[in-house]
Amino acid sequence: MGESAPCHRSKNKAFINPYGAHDRSIRAAQKMCSQCPVIRECALEALRSGSTLDDSIVTLGREVIAAGHVLPKGDASNDDVWPVARKLAKIARVRPPAYVVSRPRFRPPSQCRECGRPMVPWTRGEVPEGMAMHYAQGWGQCCRSAYRMHREVREVPVTRKPVDRKRHHPETARARAATAARRATNCLRTSELSTATGGEDRSGATGAGG
Ligand code: SF4
Ligand SMILES: [Zn+2]
Repeated sequence: MGESAPCHRSKNKAFINPYGAHDRSIRAAQKMCSQCPVIRECALEALRSGSTLDDSIVTLGREVIAAGHVLPKGDASNDDVWPVARKLAKIARVRPPAYVVSRPRFRPPSQCRECGRPMVPWTRGEVPEGMAMHYAQGWGQCCRSAYRMHREVREVPVTRKPVDRKRHHPETARARAATAARRATNCLRTSELSTATGGEDRSGATGAGG
């Protein structure tokens, strides 16, 4: 955008800090944007400029003025992000990107919700005496049936692991079946071979020993 962008020559601080700027300054900046020759490129860039460097998280830019809009604070979990993203996408003539909303991870409580037994997180190791391992949604292994009952009564949706598409892909299934068949054939051959030669080998070994 560089030289052709009027904001690059402007002293109006609202462009880079709209939340600390006067309404008047914001309106002046927005007016400048409305006459900007690169407004489309600016909107396009703003739609993704909050993303991480490796693009693993794509999100809207934050807390600046871009393409005539004040970009909201926070990430896609902020409800204000979507209306602005839609307006920018309209200016850029693209579809709004699919932002990923980051939800806080569920942290199991330190005690089983059912029996109050102290809990440790899921582990392959040993669970200390008197404690239970966390099972699901705050219930310990100690109270699995109570958890299932709770799920049925409340109709709580089960959070399942995403299906491993590669593992369940027909190609993979065929490849697995072929490997299993090959192994079975090899086993059969080996056992046939050992039946055929096993006696001689053993007798040979016995002969050498004696
Ligand atoms: S549209 Fe973008 S590049 Fe143009 S003046 Fe506004 S903020 Fe600057
Ligand atoms: Zn319990």
